[in-house]
Amino acid sequence: MPYIIDGKAISKQIKDELRDEVEKLTEAGINACLAVIQVGNDPASTVYVNNKKKACAYVGINSRSYELPEDTSEQTLLDLVQKLNEDPEVNGILVQLPLPKQIDEDKVIRTISPDKDVDGFHPVSVGRLWIGEKGFLSCTPAGVIQLLKRSGIEIEGKECVIIGRSNIVGKPMAALLLRENATVTVAHSKTKDLKSIAKRADILIVAIGKAKFITKDYIKEGAVVIDVGMHRDEQNHLCGDVDCEDVSSVVSAITPVPGGVGPMTIAMLMNNCVETIRGREERA
Ligand code: NAP
Repeated sequence: MPYIIDGKAISKQIKDELRDEVEKLTEAGINACLAVIQVGNDPASTVYVNNKKKACAYVGINSRSYELPEDTSEQTLLDLVQKLNEDPEVNGILVQLPLPKQIDEDKVIRTISPDKDVDGFHPVSVGRLWIGEKGFLSCTPAGVIQLLKRSGIEIEGKECVIIGRSNIVGKPMAALLLRENATVTVAHSKTKDLKSIAKRADILIVAIGKAKFITKDYIKEGAVVIDVGMHRDEQNHLCGDVDCEDVSSVVSAITPVPGGVGPMTIAMLMNNCVETIRGREERA
């Protein structure tokens, strides 16, 4: 049986560490406040937003909620983001994606101040990541690094293959693995002979967005598999991009869905929120 990487337990461990840190900062009179903006009432977004607010309450971070109607204009949202950029009491700004079609997501992301960009999506955060400068890291890939490290899985020198090249998962994942001295390959929908490329991986990270796409034919014996995907199958059960049952005889370790990467994304968001106030007690 493979080792099951327990994202739920690791995310709790991280949130508990953050809670201790926040408690000390609060005692020193330093508070963090996250502004969470949701436009419309997509049920999945509402679940994500509520989970983020719950995590804030757990860690001891204040959260402010802005719930805007589905037909909100782009300018109204940009004005709100600008107002929050200028509000000294707000340390982090999160705009829940996706946004309704009348709003250009890219414009909104670029309007968030890079100093409050706790999702790590602003081009300044992305640039900092690639040149190895300190900055906000995209939460899901940062969570994957923590899952590997805290499970005692060595990254340095390993052959890592990422399937998927999105701006929020695949690309920042590649930058973070390079930082950890892995040898990195990024595959995508135009990649030729995906199976043989995936089979090179000591660590295979899958972020394709296709339920149970990866079977044991893609996996080298003993590989570690991180499944970023999140879907509902025919029985309405949550599942990932990896066919967990099929691969279990070949992998050495794997993240489950649910309970793998998912909880880590929120834990790393909390870490980015705390990052906005870290070190302030020395400056106070
Ligand atoms: P995305 O933006 O749709 O990107 C999917 C990537 O997979 C693209 O780069 C695409 O290639 C590639 N791809 C699609 N079909 C492929 C194929 N047959 N062979 C090889 N590559 C293929 O998705 P995403 O936002 O990165 O998310 C991926 C999955 O992770 C989704 O299931 C999403 O729900 C989940 N997710 C989970 C979390 C979490 O917290 N657990 C966070 C974010 C995302 P091209 O670029 O060539 O089109």
